[in-house]
Parts: sequence; structure tokens; C-alpha cells
Amino acid sequence: MKGWLGNAFNWFFPLYCAGCGSEDWAICPACKKNIQQSGDECFGQEAVPAPFSELLDGLAALFVYEKRGVVAEALHLYKYSLIDDYGRELWQLWRNNLSQSLLMEIERNIDLISWIPLHPRKEKSRGFNQSAMLAVHLPTEKLKLPFLLRRRDTAAQMSLQRQQRLQNMQGAFVINNRLDAKTADLRGKSVLLVDDVVTTGATLGAAAAALKGAGAAAVFALVLARQKE
Ligand SMILES: [Zn+2]
Repeated sequence: MKGWLGNAFNWFFPLYCAGCGSEDWAICPACKKNIQQSGDECFGQEAVPAPFSELLDGLAALFVYEKRGVVAEALHLYKYSLIDDYGRELWQLWRNNLSQSLLMEIERNIDLISWIPLHPRKEKSRGFNQSAMLAVHLPTEKLKLPFLLRRRDTAAQMSLQRQQRLQNMQGAFVINNRLDAKTADLRGKSVLLVDDVVTTGATLGAAAAALKGAGAAAVFALVLARQKE
């Protein structure tokens, strides 16, 4: 929240660290240092969950996602509280931990950047899409556009079993027909998809299927955090 209302809000609800709860930080320096890096130096095929190896040409994550870990808590607080500070910390972590080699790969191999869309109803109630925000904060001049739309309000993936997740996501995305035909022409293009967390890869796989169905030659994925198997 911004302005006087935000100040009043922060006064009544002081900021606390998503990791350890210490006051006046969204993520305190000690917790920031303890976030486990994924170690991904480039977009790897080996990081792509097996069922999606035909659809995703490479995947890279910045961090390891741990339940109740700092990244998980900060994301949760960003998505469900009204406090912007958690988002700002996440963008900063995102930008500061992108390796030079990943940035170079984006410059060399990517034509267009997009993200995993939320269902319009959900985006309206939340006021933003955290994956779009990650894409916006990627330090590159490449074209960033909403190439995909979410067709169904899919049940929250986290609550489903693996097999259900795969079925739940099939056909969940379509190409955004509101973009003009020339801009939206994906034929032969190499697309980078941005998302916050990857678990089974079902969401990214379904999104990549829609992009490839529209002619994309390659689809890579960049995520904030990858959940441990
Ligand atoms: Zn802390």
C-alpha cells in the first residue's frame, strides 16, 4: 500500500521478516543469505520434469522452493496480504540472483517473453499476477507480452496429487486473441515463459503446449523457485 494509508497500515501492522519474524524487514539480511540457490547456470533439459521434455526445451530456477521457507512465505505474504514490501524484496532477489550466463542465454536465444496467466477473475481479485511481475522485472529489452490466456479457473495445483495435477492442467491455456495478429505471430519464435514456482511442471507443460500449438519453435521456462522432488 502506498501513501498515508500505507503508512497508517504499517504502523498498525508492522512489517516482519518472512523467514524469522524479526520486525521491520520483509526479508531480513540473515534470512536472505540463507535462501538456498538452485545452482542452475543455464536452461537445462535435465531440469525439465520427464513428461514435459517434448514441450519444454529448457528450464532454470533461481532458488529451491521449500514449504514454509523464506521464498514460500514471502510469496504467500505478497499474494495474500496488502503489503507491497514482500513483492519488492522478491523482485530484488529475482534480479540480483539471475546469473550472467542466464541473462546472456536470454539475449541470444529468446525472441519473446511471456508468463503463466491467472484466470481473469483471480487476477482481478488479487489485483496483479505475480508471474507477470517477475517477467516485468527481468532486466532485458526483449518484448514481453501476455501471449496466453487461462481458460479455466483450475483448482489450486498445490492441493492436488501428481496425476490430478497433470489432468487438471490439460488444455488450460489458449493463445491470447486480443493481441494483433502480427505481434502474436509465434511461428518459428523462441519463447521464454516466466512463473513463480515449478512443482510437477504440469502448468508450464500445458502453457508450452499452447505456444507450440501456435507454431513456437522453442519454449524455455524461467522460475523463481523449484520445489524439491
Ligand atoms: Zn529473517
